[in-house]
Amino acid sequence: MARWCADQGWAVHPLAPGSKLPPANCRRCARPTSGRPNPQYIEHETADCRCIAAGGRCHGVRAATTDPARIDRWWSAEPRFGVGIACGASGLVILDVDDHTDADRPENHDYLPGVKLPDGAAPESFRSGWDTIAALCEVRCAPLPWVDPPTLTVLTAGGGLQAWFRVEDPELWHPAAGRLGWQLDLRAGRSYGIAPGTVTAAGTYRALGDCRTVAPLPSWLEEDLRRTGHHRKPDPARQRRRNARQLLSTLRPPKGDAYVQAVVRAEVDQVATAPSGTRNQTLYNAARALGRFIPAGQLSEAEATACLTAAGTACGLSDTETRASIRSGLRAGTIRKGATA
Ligand SMILES: [Zn+2]
Ligand SMILES: [Zn+2]
Repeated sequence: MARWCADQGWAVHPLAPGSKLPPANCRRCARPTSGRPNPQYIEHETADCRCIAAGGRCHGVRAATTDPARIDRWWSAEPRFGVGIACGASGLVILDVDDHTDADRPENHDYLPGVKLPDGAAPESFRSGWDTIAALCEVRCAPLPWVDPPTLTVLTAGGGLQAWFRVEDPELWHPAAGRLGWQLDLRAGRSYGIAPGTVTAAGTYRALGDCRTVAPLPSWLEEDLRRTGHHRKPDPARQRRRNARQLLSTLRPPKGDAYVQAVVRAEVDQVATAPSGTRNQTLYNAARALGRFIPAGQLSEAEATACLTAAGTACGLSDTETRASIRSGLRAGTIRKGATA
């Protein structure tokens, strides 16, 4: 199942045997809590995790991959792992309908915030998310969103359902607990769905019907999800930072120590998110900062240039401007170091 999902372009990560949650991190990545001190923990940003870079599966959804070799390794080591689908990395959002018949009722019987319940829908008749989604569809004169057009839908072990949809801009969608409706949630961004075949203590997740393809998010549901705060406006700085990080991830990581790597990442972020009018100067400053590492051999000139070029391109500088700022910045950084040494 993990391999099949990856073939569809969906990024997968393991779930602990019998559980809906990812397996525990390694000791170096397991953040200590008050109840569980961990002397082996090494503090790091998840984005800088060496385990993930080395093909490990720490940090759950953040390690999700479509790489067949990684997938084979993870599931060969533990075939009882379930399969999580990282929504954002897979270009998906997942509508989650819960079936908790003993859940608390919403205040003022507000089952669908901002929506007038259909005539004849008695609030006391709502038993679970199934009734909420049915009411929303009735108000919108729409079929159940996984029915027409059909889309891959998973019946959960708890009696609920997860309907999978494609979106153009997965990084802009995010969960907003309970805002769409009572026992209706959206999994998006760094939350994950559970693939069919996954076995938990509560039972097995199974595909509904025979549809194995994913349809685009229906426009009426997209409107309701936007109305209820599940979609954020694109943030140009954030977008540039993402571009720079994406470019960085395709480069060979600098071979220097963790400190050098952290500085490279910070400088790249600075450049990638610099406001217009300050970009040339910021790139020059970054090049000068990285130049300091070159004389000692902590970073090669080629590595520094590749990272800075990625950042310069990501923030929208032209090739000529990028090259010029990097060249003079690196020269200044190298010389300054040489002068004080
Ligand atoms: Zn780890
Ligand atoms: Zn880690």
